[in-house]
Amino acid sequence: MLQSINPTNDEVIREYEELTEQEIASVLQKSQTAFEQWRETDFSHRAPLMKKAAEVLRDHRQEYAELMAREMGKPVLGGRSEVEKCAWVCEYYAEHAESFLADQPIETDASNSFVAFQPLGVVLAVMPWNFPFWQVFRFAAPGLMAGNAGVLKHASNVTGCALAIEEVFREAGFPEHLFRTLKISSSKVGRVIEHPIVKAVTLTGSVPAGKAVAQKAGSVLKKTVLELGGSDPYVILEDADLDLAVPTCVNSRLINSGQSCIAAKRFIVVDKVREEFEQRFVDIMEQKTMGDPMDEGSDIGPQARTDLRDELHGQVEQSIKQGAQCLLGGKIPGQKGAWYPPTVLANVKPGMPAYGEELFGPVASIITAKDEDDAIRIANDSRFGLGAAVFTRDAEKGTHIAAEKLQAGCCFVNSLVKSDPRLPFGGIRESGYGRELSHFGIKEFVNIKTVYVK
Ligand code: NDP
Repeated sequence: MLQSINPTNDEVIREYEELTEQEIASVLQKSQTAFEQWRETDFSHRAPLMKKAAEVLRDHRQEYAELMAREMGKPVLGGRSEVEKCAWVCEYYAEHAESFLADQPIETDASNSFVAFQPLGVVLAVMPWNFPFWQVFRFAAPGLMAGNAGVLKHASNVTGCALAIEEVFREAGFPEHLFRTLKISSSKVGRVIEHPIVKAVTLTGSVPAGKAVAQKAGSVLKKTVLELGGSDPYVILEDADLDLAVPTCVNSRLINSGQSCIAAKRFIVVDKVREEFEQRFVDIMEQKTMGDPMDEGSDIGPQARTDLRDELHGQVEQSIKQGAQCLLGGKIPGQKGAWYPPTVLANVKPGMPAYGEELFGPVASIITAKDEDDAIRIANDSRFGLGAAVFTRDAEKGTHIAAEKLQAGCCFVNSLVKSDPRLPFGGIRESGYGRELSHFGIKEFVNIKTVYVK
């Protein structure tokens, strides 16, 4: 049984029966049939449908924002912008898929040689609860435009969102089974990956989930794309504009109540500006309002699940035990629900969870660096490599550090790390592999076919 639990008060909203093995097989078969017809359509047929999906999303923006608020605690303001961003990615691929996937001529000794991009078939998407709409659409929009079909195994706590997404495509007029939600728990994912109809898998989530899925997919030789979170370093150099840096760092740390793979997690501050940064950072964190996600004034809602909140608190307590200084928060409020306040840890050192692990919640780790080189060394001292940012008034230096020194998939200067349909998104090391979005993303799940005519 899959359960949706309201994290503001721990009440069960709804329970969903899981699909049986036969039901799963039947969905996959219907998706395959839908794919076989869909792959024959051209872009002039697919694009208007994808544009219509954007319209459907916008029409239901408030409804979907409230659904996310109920199932995983996202404040409605954030929920509405998430839905808007999904509409953007649908429009982006509706407009650009054809040119991204146009044949590419390559001169050789042949009379004609070129590269063609062809769909793979039914792709399985294993998705997390933190951006329940966006994570799915950034796979589905390019995936369907490329001619594939999609089956979604969404996180068990957001089945309502999963069904709503299936409905978006139905309402937009896509073929009935081209995009389907599989109501299953993670224990059944292995069987779906093994199924001959499934041709590839994309997963966004934790490192253990990524490893399990990649292992299974590897055993049956199916391609995977993995987006597995991170512990993004934000480097604050001596010449940083703190009026810009501090609020940007706070905003990034608190995105989605702290539960974002590309939230700023480690603040690596050069010693000379450390004290001022810390004071200003705590001041702004303190002003943020934690409250009912249905309330327009809430900056942060509850965490998505109580077990995850407890895990986060364990990491905070352990770090404090090892010598971290708690400058703000750090206590579980005495009320029902998965609440956790904005928290700031300073004096964070190697060996502490706040230094080496991902803190998936509103907890900032401040780490002191001796100088610029030391700051870059610390930034790269991580098993993750998703995003990174550097703050400096010297744009040229910042660009050099971002391009050449920081070891991550997305490096930003004087800005928070964000995803954008036009730019590739993904990580290195334990943050995963492969890229989503842009023309790189749409080429992950296609057969890059060489055609050679003598
Ligand atoms: P998980 O990685 O466990 O869940 C993500 C998705 O993977 C869900 O659909 C989940 O299904 C599925 N899944 C989990 N384990 C397996 C498995 N062995 N085989 C196949 N599918 C699996 O995330 P959690 O919800 O447990 O969150 C734990 C941590 O993961 C967070 O604290 C954070 O560090 C990280 N995370 C990172 C995200 C990101 O954006 N990169 C997003 C969410 C979490 P089910 O829900 O049924 O278990």
